[in-house]
Amino acid sequence: MKRLLRLFKKIRDKDAASSWKLTYTGFKPAEEGLREALCTLGNGYFATRAAACESAASRIRYPGTYIAGVYNKLPTRIAGRIIFNEDLVNCPNWLPLSFRIEKGKWMVPSPRRIIAYRQTLDLRKGVLNRKIRLRDRHNHRTTIETQRIVHMAEPHHAAIRYVIVPENYEGWITIRSGLDGGVQNSGVARYRQLNSKHLRAGSVGTFGKNGISLLVRTSQSDIKIAQAAKVHIFSAGREIRPGHRILVKENKAIYQEFRIFVRKKRRYEIEKIVAVYTSADSNIRDPLTAAVNSVKNAHRFQTLLKSHQHAWSVLWKKFDVQIAGDVFSQKVIRLHIFHLLQVASIHNAAIDAGLPARGLHGEAYRGHIFWDELFVLPFFNLHAPEISRALLLYRYRRLPQARKYAEQNWYRGAMFPWQSASTGEEETPLIHLNPLSRRWDPDFSHFQRHVSFAIAYNVWKYWKQTGDLDFFLRYGAEIFLSVAKFAASLTQYNFKDKRYHTEGVMGPDEFHEKLPGSAKPGVTDNAYTNLLIVWMLIKAREMLTALPSNAKMRILAKLGLDDKELLRWEYISRKMNFVVNDEGVVSQYDGYFRLKELDWEAYKKKYGNIHRMDRILRAEGKSPNEYKVAKQADFLMIFYFLSLAEVKDLFQNLGYTFDRSSLKKNYAYYVKRTSHGSTLSKVVHCYLALLLGKSKDAWRLFLDVLKSDIYDSQGGTTPEGIHTGVMAGSINIVTKMFAGINIFEDRIRISPNLPKNWRSVKLRLRYKGRWISLSVAKEHIEILIRGPQAKNFLVPVEIHGKLHYFRFGKIHRVSLKTRR
Ligand code: BGC
Repeated sequence: MKRLLRLFKKIRDKDAASSWKLTYTGFKPAEEGLREALCTLGNGYFATRAAACESAASRIRYPGTYIAGVYNKLPTRIAGRIIFNEDLVNCPNWLPLSFRIEKGKWMVPSPRRIIAYRQTLDLRKGVLNRKIRLRDRHNHRTTIETQRIVHMAEPHHAAIRYVIVPENYEGWITIRSGLDGGVQNSGVARYRQLNSKHLRAGSVGTFGKNGISLLVRTSQSDIKIAQAAKVHIFSAGREIRPGHRILVKENKAIYQEFRIFVRKKRRYEIEKIVAVYTSADSNIRDPLTAAVNSVKNAHRFQTLLKSHQHAWSVLWKKFDVQIAGDVFSQKVIRLHIFHLLQVASIHNAAIDAGLPARGLHGEAYRGHIFWDELFVLPFFNLHAPEISRALLLYRYRRLPQARKYAEQNWYRGAMFPWQSASTGEEETPLIHLNPLSRRWDPDFSHFQRHVSFAIAYNVWKYWKQTGDLDFFLRYGAEIFLSVAKFAASLTQYNFKDKRYHTEGVMGPDEFHEKLPGSAKPGVTDNAYTNLLIVWMLIKAREMLTALPSNAKMRILAKLGLDDKELLRWEYISRKMNFVVNDEGVVSQYDGYFRLKELDWEAYKKKYGNIHRMDRILRAEGKSPNEYKVAKQADFLMIFYFLSLAEVKDLFQNLGYTFDRSSLKKNYAYYVKRTSHGSTLSKVVHCYLALLLGKSKDAWRLFLDVLKSDIYDSQGGTTPEGIHTGVMAGSINIVTKMFAGINIFEDRIRISPNLPKNWRSVKLRLRYKGRWISLSVAKEHIEILIRGPQAKNFLVPVEIHGKLHYFRFGKIHRVSLKTRR
């Protein structure tokens, strides 16, 4: 028995350890792009893909480095017109580090040379480890061990420890370290026809006996990017100080070479410490001086590693979600938390940058910022609302641009762009390449006006959940009410049916850009957009009542809102139009029901992967506009963030009936007609399946959600950048649906619904400035409240409908057994 218990414990410990690690054994060139994206290291200020430091960009590898908020815009003549693309710039590559034996070739881990290969991303510590054994043409065998970090506590620092062990030889080797500014944005094949040389040469330099520096600038946004690096070489615990040689390439790249004599089976440790600064950093006068000085003063690798790991351990204490009973889910959820914290982190308060949909992990969507924050902010709200605040301030700073955008389109208030980057102007490309037909098709996706409502919703949620009055008074109310004004201006009253309508808009389902045959982009009465407008206008009134009178007067005057306008808001919220059929299915937009049905089986048979039905149909000379085929949830999307009760009320106010059975019907109708061309789609459908008690469907969808990035289930998208929306969405499902934890203004509500094989979910969350530790198991819930002790302050927690009031400092245990 004891032996059996020991065995179980061993298996559990092994599982627990493996859920902190992403390990790859063997080198697979075709998988390298995916591994590079999934093992990217970053700290919110910058991130670097996990490309091998021995190789420049090639067919197999792509060493991208991206700094939050560093964009550049270039024109390209394409398909007979000039188009502009603003890219998140691939910044100079700080990785280059390699060696050669005698006069041999520079060591590159190519399949022919690799004897053994193992790469592990340690999520807990934020370290990328790699161990390789290589053999060269002359049968010299070398073991190379590397460790890489992008420092979580010192956002400008990164470092590599590179250990060389000559297995069967001794002699002279040359070590080469470099900083390469000769890079371009060429990570996404579809964009390669676009101009992508964003960097202009600046200067290169050296310092001390082991330091090099590089300065480049972006060609249009004129941001100076500086890097500095120093190398230390150690053997048997002592530093070796060989002479060095400098090589410069057109003032865009600098390399430094050191020659040392190596002995058989000895360990030679090379440390490369790097600093990255830009002229866009706050409080930096001269990025080059800052980079050189900070590298000169930087600690040894071991010390940096320690403080870096400490920073991660502090983050994990706040953010970890522990799942007992399911190693795969646990591992992927941790991977998702890890990457979200590398895209937007504790450093974001000092950075004016939004949250790129594809992270700082690749060049897909050119690093642009969409509405995906709607999926991501709930995660930050729960554990570190200051990150949400920083991301919302990125939007606030771009309110003037959003006002201009509304005006240019004959609307009022503030209309945020569908794709945003540095300035807050609309960055959605006007045409995009269909990889199947190789044709450049027009892109109307910027008609997705709902992005502004998502931003306003995020403001609302952040305010309600945190009670951050300062944010609300200084920024939040202004964003919300400016968007409300825009929302109202989108609607037009029709005297015939006495209802308000919208036209020229698109819902989240990007396959439907217009009515078939119509020349005019956008559709009429997109149900998702219309319902959000109603929600906004009702909440806007609530917000105005919550404002102290002087703040209210100030905002009303600033935004030009008068009683007449507010009265119109009231009318709209009671008379917005929806098209509903006899079965109670809400039409995605006016005219949707008249579209053709798609022969799903035939297409599945012919193409296998039919996620991107839009591309398939266009390549066949058809248009997705003609068919009932959705990329992702559209009308159903509303239920991802408004409760059924809220939606019911909104509809009731408008004179329509909507209840649980309507939701069931709408789900059944639309899920059949959705190809899940966006990874966000399955998040929403999984969430809805859980709402409707369809546990089997939900579990299948949840597994698909988890597999989206780790297995690149869309076939080729993750190597171009992670999907932050699906990553955060998966965590939301665990916390909101499986653990059943929902935060409201006046209480925490817990209604767990753990999957069969899960024993418990444990996490910590922030509620009104306090930390609450929760352990949700099948039989009981444990709650511990920590934080500033306030007299008579009790935390209201509703568990399966019963309200409890909990005190600080004590573990409260509530049994769930009686329910069963
Ligand atoms: C989805 C959008 C999303 C964008 C960025 C698209 O494929 O349709 O909803 O915002 O990707 O993630």
